[in-house]
Amino acid sequence: MLAEEEKELNRIRRLFIYLAKKLAGEGGLQIASALINQGGLTDEQLSEITGLPITNIRNLLTTLRNEGILYNIKEKDMNSGWTLYYWFADPLTIKRIFKDRLRESINKLRVLMKLNQEGNFFICPECNIKFSKTDAENNNYKCPICGVDLVPAEPIIGLGKIVNKLLEKYNLATK
Ligand SMILES: [Zn+2]
Repeated sequence: MLAEEEKELNRIRRLFIYLAKKLAGEGGLQIASALINQGGLTDEQLSEITGLPITNIRNLLTTLRNEGILYNIKEKDMNSGWTLYYWFADPLTIKRIFKDRLRESINKLRVLMKLNQEGNFFICPECNIKFSKTDAENNNYKCPICGVDLVPAEPIIGLGKIVNKLLEKYNLATK
């Protein structure tokens, strides 16, 4: 395998682990780790590997499938006649979901950046805690914790640069 492909694959593995944990907690993380080691596992095998009860595993798998990062392939077991589900991670959806989430965060950061530039934040010089203009107003420009007068917060220098770098890095600039 090419070094670049290997790197990309590892990046997707990390995203998979990250999203599985975000969406389904510790159990999601365990399922993701098991599927990275060996794709195409059944509910029962996942239960065996992780030590989690089968009902838990099924709930977690449903959650992760509904989010789109897992898919299954149905197969009829010749011996028992039962339908077995083999689970796999979906790299493309993993990438897409991660990008969507990242874009959301960046948009929030943009809003924050705009507010920040317009001097809409106040800070307590004692506690070093920031307050929005509305919160500051509601407290008569006093810190609700220590009572000291709030002062206008300095804009975060370079926030715009950080946002643009993120947009460039993840190829989101045109979206
Ligand atoms: Zn204070």
